[in-house]
Amino acid sequence: MAVPFRRTSKTVKRKRRTHFKLAVPGMTACPNCGELKLAHRVCKSCGTYKGKEVIGQ
Ligand SMILES: [Zn+2]
Repeated sequence: MAVPFRRTSKTVKRKRRTHFKLAVPGMTACPNCGELKLAHRVCKSCGTYKGKEVIGQ
């Protein structure tokens, strides 16, 4: 196994890792119930999309 001549310093390692962060999916508030929901998707808590109820109960 190759041994690096210079070990990556803590600072360099940390600086590199500032770029990898968790990608937060696009969340918006539901206009009907105000619950956070994924954008362009039916609201899980009230079952509406674009102000219409699409999950019939
Ligand atoms: Zn809702």
